[in-house]
Amino acid sequence: MSTSHFRAALQRLTGQSLRRALSPLESASGPVVDYAGRTVILLSSNDYLGLAAHPRVIQSAVEATERYGAGSGASRLVSGSLPPHRSLEAALAKFKGTEGALVFGAGYLANVGVIPNLIGRGGLILADRLCHASLIDGCRLSRADFRVFRHGDCAHLETLLRRRSDNRRTLIITEGLFSMDGDVAPLDDLVRLAEQYDALLYVDDAHGTGIMGAGGRGTIEQFGLEGRIPFHMGTLSKALGSYGAYVVGSDDFVQYLLNVARSFIFTTALPPAMAAAASAAIAIVETEPERRARLWANRHYLFKGLQNQGFRLTATVSPILPVLIGDAAKASAFADRLLAHGVYATAIRPPTVPDGTSRIRFTVTAAHTTDQLDEALQAVQRAGRETGLL
Ligand SMILES: *Cc1c(COP(=O)(O)O)cnc(C)c1O
Repeated sequence: MSTSHFRAALQRLTGQSLRRALSPLESASGPVVDYAGRTVILLSSNDYLGLAAHPRVIQSAVEATERYGAGSGASRLVSGSLPPHRSLEAALAKFKGTEGALVFGAGYLANVGVIPNLIGRGGLILADRLCHASLIDGCRLSRADFRVFRHGDCAHLETLLRRRSDNRRTLIITEGLFSMDGDVAPLDDLVRLAEQYDALLYVDDAHGTGIMGAGGRGTIEQFGLEGRIPFHMGTLSKALGSYGAYVVGSDDFVQYLLNVARSFIFTTALPPAMAAAASAAIAIVETEPERRARLWANRHYLFKGLQNQGFRLTATVSPILPVLIGDAAKASAFADRLLAHGVYATAIRPPTVPDGTSRIRFTVTAAHTTDQLDEALQAVQRAGRETGLL
């Protein structure tokens, strides 16, 4: 294979408006960032509570680095399990009300490590159609049979459950708060179906963690289902402003995973700084509910503004505000015009979302001021008119 092969593949992606590129942002934490020498309003970050730049979170990361070093030096099971990992796991278990917690290097690693140890060859996985790529890859690694049910459609799921042969081991997979549509799974009905049909339920609450529920404990708290879902996962990388992921559940479950999950065993432990930062972020989530209040006020403000301008949004109930465009080229053009008017919000295109559902996924955070949101809304309106969307 010569390099001309790579060039041809890239040209095909360009032709389909599906080519991706890294963006030259000077800072990851918003709400205002430098982009190619200009100051723009960032509406693409998952740092929903603005904790990535919180002084106490940064201070914890710095102190842990000074005390324990930049890297962990080895995997958790060898010599990389340090005090910041252990404190974080204790804090997560307490926050989530479970016996135990296990920290993984990333959400991607958690999903590909956990799912193949919940089910294997001969089993049946039923996953929501909009599940994240890391969940799908975990399903593939498991070698179980894999079917999708229509997004959020429990009637469809029940049809698939009824159709399966008796006693077949079954795993239902969903996100809590869906990353690309901003809506929530019907968790109450999913729990009922899992119980009724004797299936396991695996919830990925990467986006719900820190923002959903009165206590910020996530989508499961929002539904009042804490205690009814034996285990689930979430990440430290979105509202918690750090990096890494967790799985919470019983002690036995945690001990089982650390013995079998290959993406836990065969990888270096999370850097101490990231673990300490996440612990500090959890403490802030628990003690500063006003950040969540501010996030939701901003969310309602931007949602109303976009709706009043006449944009079509998904059925979102969260700070993820996807404006549906459909065509990938149009979505890219819209994002380009937005940037020209001082707003950074990326176009989300296939394969991240299904064909024909390209969108601009605006995300708002607790850190945005009302002035910034007003300015952003003006830019959105202008860009919408210039690209013929309004
Ligand atoms: C971001 C995300 C992940 C991956 O988490 P990382 O820590 O970024 O690897 C997994 N699942 C969902 C639903 C996500 O949104």
